[in-house]
Amino acid sequence: MIFSKVTLAPADPILGLTDAFKADTRPHKVNLGVGIYKDEAGQTPILSSVKKAEAILLETEKTKNYLGIEGVQAYNQVVQELLFGPQSTIITDKRAVTAQAPGGTGSLRVASEFLVRNTGSTTIWVSNPTWANHQNIFETAGLTVKEYRYYKAESHDMDFDAMLADLSTANVGDVVLLHGCCHNPTGIDLSLEQWQQVANICLEKSLLPLFDFAYQGFGAGIEEDAQGLRAVAAVVPELLIANSFSKNFGLYNERVGAVTIVAETQQDAVTSFSQIKKTIRANYSNPPAHGGLIVSTILSDAALRQEWQAELTLMRERIAEMRTLFVESLKSEGVQQDFSFISRQNGMFSFSGLNKSQVARLKDEFAIYIVGSGRISVAGLTKNNMAAVCKAIAQVI
Ligand code: PMP
Repeated sequence: MIFSKVTLAPADPILGLTDAFKADTRPHKVNLGVGIYKDEAGQTPILSSVKKAEAILLETEKTKNYLGIEGVQAYNQVVQELLFGPQSTIITDKRAVTAQAPGGTGSLRVASEFLVRNTGSTTIWVSNPTWANHQNIFETAGLTVKEYRYYKAESHDMDFDAMLADLSTANVGDVVLLHGCCHNPTGIDLSLEQWQQVANICLEKSLLPLFDFAYQGFGAGIEEDAQGLRAVAAVVPELLIANSFSKNFGLYNERVGAVTIVAETQQDAVTSFSQIKKTIRANYSNPPAHGGLIVSTILSDAALRQEWQAELTLMRERIAEMRTLFVESLKSEGVQQDFSFISRQNGMFSFSGLNKSQVARLKDEFAIYIVGSGRISVAGLTKNNMAAVCKAIAQVI
């Protein structure tokens, strides 16, 4: 039999954990694995700005006809404005082209396949560590993955010298994956000065930056979080961006993201876009409409946009508050180890430094689910579960 030869795939390190969490019958269980924002009540509600946009769409939508291959055009326009700023010359010079794609994952996939099929750029450098799905996406699309050092475990800090040293060994045309902000899993981002150095090395060595921008607005703010991308885009002639609205609009299951190419000339952008569209056509033909329409409806309406920004600020501030509380609570549970680095990290995640056996004990003995790397989704911590989580951590370290 043909299917009897198929071997069992290992469970996904993050989504597999969610399955195990769902199957756990212990009532006090806590999921700090997957990166999903939870409010103070431990819920992931639909944003009020999103609900209002959906009500407008329900009233005004006249057809469920296919979108074009590139998706909702108004959406692609607002994506570029969020990425580069509305006044950017990249937009006015028409050097950027954007196609809506299913989430950040779909955008990364389209970008990768475009590179493999149309350019000689088939090696991609990713940070060590990086989001667990990166290697999977890139290798499946046919890219060769190499790693640059990024993190110093002893000091829970960035190893920028090592990053630069590794990138300086890359070959002309290699792709460099950069986390736009809120680096997953470490929560450690480059400073503006460091971004400028990365931009310079990309320029000098003709490396192609691919920005994975999944958390705009979760670090310091919508504009602030784009400063790295904008600094690099001001220096290099060409780059790619795969962005996602799963987190900052809470549109996880609508699968809404985009792939953007910035080319040196408008002509190169147009030509590249034809190949991006060919890639999309061969994969899923055209994207789903609902998520893109929600985002473009919100961003093109001043009141809804303001409401969304306020909701995003609340999410960002609650996570920051949980970071501070986490550090304080660990201390008050008697943990001697210095965890103050957690309050210096950005975004949803904290790279806690907990090792595999400590993570396993937290799951087995305390029903607390954390990714094996020790990455904690701070967005899953609440005032209600904080004490239990910190008590458990105090027992395993
Ligand atoms: N990139 C990074 C760094 C992420 O953390 C995620 C989501 N966890 C994604 C991309 C993918 O986002 P999406 O769910 O929109 O596919």
